[in-house]
Amino acid sequence: MIDVAIIGAGTAGLTAAIYARRAGSSVTVFEGEAPGGQIINTPEIDNFPGLPGVSGYEYANKLFEQAQALGAEFVFDKVKVAEGSLEEGFRLTTEYGTLCEAKTVIIASGVKRREMGLAGEQEFTGRGISYCATCDGAFFKGKTAAVFGGGNTAVEDAIYLAGICKKVYIIHRRNQFRADQALVDELLAHDNVETKLCFTVSGIRGEDKLTGVELTNIDGSREELTTDALFVAIGLIPENGVFKDIAELDDAGYVVAGENCETSTPGVFAAGDCRTKDVRQLVTAAADGAVAAVAASRLSRGG
Ligand code: NDP
Repeated sequence: MIDVAIIGAGTAGLTAAIYARRAGSSVTVFEGEAPGGQIINTPEIDNFPGLPGVSGYEYANKLFEQAQALGAEFVFDKVKVAEGSLEEGFRLTTEYGTLCEAKTVIIASGVKRREMGLAGEQEFTGRGISYCATCDGAFFKGKTAAVFGGGNTAVEDAIYLAGICKKVYIIHRRNQFRADQALVDELLAHDNVETKLCFTVSGIRGEDKLTGVELTNIDGSREELTTDALFVAIGLIPENGVFKDIAELDDAGYVVAGENCETSTPGVFAAGDCRTKDVRQLVTAAADGAVAAVAASRLSRGG
């Protein structure tokens, strides 16, 4: 039985792995996708203390290498079943059948991008619709792109695209952005950016590839927007259903845990974006990872 099982190799999970290994715990990290989490899609991180301007990919890669160098084990597979207790130990089973027994568990499963839920969204994904401007923006060099959303991700995406596209629209459902003011100011300084405030994307246009979108205003009026690409950045949703037997979830699906990262089950901790919290940032994810790992390591030694 290992000391600490960590689910998720984003900032919270990898930081937890670093701290738990440095505390002398045996650690296995489970990750269903590539290591690094959401931040790998961020072109430039400007608010992580001490690392202004670092790219999300570079930052995530360094974090992964750091955890590996300290001896954390990695299993690249999705956890399908999570059960057990502090007294008897926890059992995690992955989709491909790996079984792991652990004294403590840190859930650091992050969040997933919200989809629009429109007809044609799946068919046009990869044919004009994308959820990652850094990954796919270069395909639309010199063309027109639209970004849907008003948070930091949407505004950062629009800034990035403004540097490579001829014209960028940013479509947001309210008359005020949710993103940090510094980012909004930077965005609005680009003269090839046009805001479409108080609009949502209500329809997808095109035959074999995207040619435009239908917009609906909050007053109910509609208009057509011609664009080669639509980058969707309308927020994130948790995917914690698999943990419902070992931790309480709130109505939105986040794992209920406070700043000490303790969940309703002794021995189970939640760190980063997957837990109930106000500020979902890289720095708070890293902080959670440290807090959860120190507590889990102590507990796994019987302390
Ligand atoms: P956010 O939840 O911050 O923003 C989502 C945006 O999408 C909001 O503007 C919201 O509108 C809008 N939205 C939500 N649902 C819908 C819908 N169904 N239809 C239309 N619009 C919708 O998500 P982000 O992905 O931007 O950011 C997630 C977290 O990561 C945040 O905490 C953010 O601060 C952080 N982040 C930080 C970065 C940085 O600091 N450099 C970079 C990127 C992300 P409304 O405003 O009306 O709610």
